[in-house]
Amino acid sequence: MAAIVIDGKAIAAKLLEDVRLRVAELKKTGVLPCLAVILVGEDPGSVSYVKAKQKALTEAGMDGWDLTLHETAPEAELHTLIARLNADERVHGILVQLPLPAHINEDRIIRAIDPHKDVDCFHPLSMGKLLMGQPGFLPCTPHGVLVLLKEMKIPVSGSQVVIVGRSNIVGKPLAMLLARKEYNATVTICHTGTKDLASYTRMADILIAAAGSPGLITGDMIKPGAAVIDVGVNAIIGTHLHSHLVGDVLFDEAQETAGWITPVPGGVGPMTIAMLMHNVLHAAEGK
Ligand code: NAP
Repeated sequence: MAAIVIDGKAIAAKLLEDVRLRVAELKKTGVLPCLAVILVGEDPGSVSYVKAKQKALTEAGMDGWDLTLHETAPEAELHTLIARLNADERVHGILVQLPLPAHINEDRIIRAIDPHKDVDCFHPLSMGKLLMGQPGFLPCTPHGVLVLLKEMKIPVSGSQVVIVGRSNIVGKPLAMLLARKEYNATVTICHTGTKDLASYTRMADILIAAAGSPGLITGDMIKPGAAVIDVGVNAIIGTHLHSHLVGDVLFDEAQETAGWITPVPGGVGPMTIAMLMHNVLHAAEGK
């Protein structure tokens, strides 16, 4: 039987509607949630991500500040801007669109953001809180994956989860969250040093691919009935230089074996934006 395709777009739309209603309530108390989005340069991928975030902010009834610096702006200019936004009470969240140009140190920039406004949850303090299970922001993509699992009623407690990828923004925080007592999964993290990747993925009740490697996960690497969450977003250049997006999983093959599967696009991507809106709302509510 073919897998159930998880409609991330529909689940995200439901969450955004909830955010929109709560924003309307908050506005009645005189608080307008506001996210400042900083973009350095004009990388087309980053420009389109920023546009998608601004669109979601508008739809949720929130304020979005679009702050673009020139590609060659010195790091000091970015620090000055962040310090101004940290001090500005109208701003509840600050997001610096990554990657930054090579002359700017990303770690220093992330550390400069006030952790109370760190809605991306990239600051070391936010990551430390996450590791220790203390209240705070959750990173948007991992949080989006958890919500998808919950909404689809996919059993997590006691399950074997295999995550392919150990980045600071996806693999690592997702592993830490799923290993928490409240989720109770047994988590394995795979990476480029993993020998015989398929022997791990075939054990997974929940397989999460976050490698950025198109076609890495084939149908024969999936346990029958498993939930397959494809975080990967890879642009493939086709004929006439038209590009389209694919995940890390060979969808058609995987769909034959899996129990549930997320499509790309329309799976995890919309959830990431929805969880960002959720974090901005929380920051504005002072939670
Ligand atoms: P990243 O920082 O490049 O990390 C990729 C991870 O995957 C690394 O840990 C790497 O291992 C591992 N990996 C790569 N190729 C592998 C292979 N052949 N076998 C086993 N492990 C492999 O990437 P990221 O930022 O986490 O993003 C991962 C993917 O998710 C990308 O396609 C990105 O565009 C996408 N993404 C999507 C969303 C969304 O909202 N849908 C959000 C964030 C990211 P090593 O550590 O050994 O190098």
